[in-house]
Amino acid sequence: MSRVVLVTGASQGIGAAISRRFVALGDVVVTLSRRGTAPEGVAEALAVDVSDSEAVSTALKSLTERHGAPEVAVVNAGITRDGLALRMSDAQWREVLATDLDGAFYTARAALGPMVRARRGSIIFIGSVSPFLGVPGQANYAAAKAGLVGLARALAREVASRSITVNVIAPGLIATDMTRDLAPDGPVAATTIPLGRVGEADDVAALAAFLASDGARYITGAVVPVDGGLALGL
Ligand code: NDP
Repeated sequence: MSRVVLVTGASQGIGAAISRRFVALGDVVVTLSRRGTAPEGVAEALAVDVSDSEAVSTALKSLTERHGAPEVAVVNAGITRDGLALRMSDAQWREVLATDLDGAFYTARAALGPMVRARRGSIIFIGSVSPFLGVPGQANYAAAKAGLVGLARALAREVASRSITVNVIAPGLIATDMTRDLAPDGPVAATTIPLGRVGEADDVAALAAFLASDGARYITGAVVPVDGGLALGL
């Protein structure tokens, strides 16, 4: 039976790949992004800024009315505003925290209510290896993504009795617009990533599909890397 799957940040990159993957599995995929675009086959794509708490809960209510409550929520929307901490502006800090952490909380909270009532569901946060590696220039991003781990683990305990799993995927360097300026195909990738290449958005999508599947029903509160060995279990 097809599920309703919510994906945030689905207009491009990893979120688009995840959406395509669930569409291919026959699921009803609904998405949020600021542009409100999504890959072909997505049932409905709304233009919503996830840092706007009210907009997120209104969007979830209207999507649920039309398609049913999401059984899977992939909380993927994220941005970077890199810069060394000494020169990082308040705006750079706040913008990243507002989207990558506040937005993730608003989305998960809105999705969880119906899951608790249904006594089933899966929340998948897209984190990063950044907080485990300690990447210079990413104090804001690393703080937000580290925050996701704490958020996921607290939620995992809160909803485990309702058979809802909550996990974090920690991608390494994945070829998308976000990493375009890092010259990801250069020699850095070959020497620092054990598997010798940057990842593809589909590598992350495959893991998301697994964590949402029945085969992963005994996995919760986990942080699962998909990084070609970049962080090697840190
Ligand atoms: P992209 O920049 O390609 O895509 C980001 C997506 O998030 C877009 O669809 C964008 O859509 C959406 N988005 C950004 N801000 C908001 C917002 N405020 N409200 C709603 N949607 C928003 O990045 P990636 O696909 O590479 O990244 C996806 C996730 O994976 C992020 O959380 C990122 O931190 C994480 N990640 C990526 C890695 C990589 O190497 N690429 C490594 C580790 C983690 P729109 O502009 O339409 O709003």
